Amino acid sequence: MARVAIYPGSFDPPTLGHIDIVKRAAGVFDELVVAVGLNSDKVPFMPVQERIDALFECCAEFKNVSVTSFEGLLVDAARAHGSNVLVRGLRAITDYDYEFRIAMANRKLAPEIETVFLIASEEFSFLSSSVVREVAKLKGDYRQFVPVCVADRLKQRIGR
Ligand code: ADP
Repeated sequence: MARVAIYPGSFDPPTLGHIDIVKRAAGVFDELVVAVGLNSDKVPFMPVQERIDALFECCAEFKNVSVTSFEGLLVDAARAHGSNVLVRGLRAITDYDYEFRIAMANRKLAPEIETVFLIASEEFSFLSSSVVREVAKLKGDYRQFVPVCVADRLKQRIGR
């Protein structure tokens, strides 16, 4: 049976760190579903459809990767995709507390689903979507932190 993993996140915007995790997970699992969470509480920096389109473009080189969005519980989205593995990225020990709590909650909700952590590449271990948002807002060079297809979309949106 194919091992299907799901990699959820806000991806607002997708960064080179996210793509690094996609690449690593695509090498470990038969299929990987990158799932953009729709969170109505947050005002998005990049509209969700643009995030999906950009991820679709960035992931085209990985033949076993698909991109989707989900609303509601992650474990329900995983089940709907026939997946029993949740992939998350770990950058530093500071990620651990947050990720641990989410992983435990998901385990209570769906004991058959495992959370698997992949360690970020050291060159991206400082990188987060919030760093990119901040640099872009302050007119810094955000292009070095994101894939080209994201940079091009951000340029159209913020005009530089
Ligand atoms: P969320 O709002 O669900 O935390 P993010 O888009 O911020 O969504 O992150 C999605 C996942 O990608 C998380 O597991 C996060 O730790 C991981 N991640 C984010 N940035 C990096 C990076 N630079 N390297 C590796 N993993 C990362």
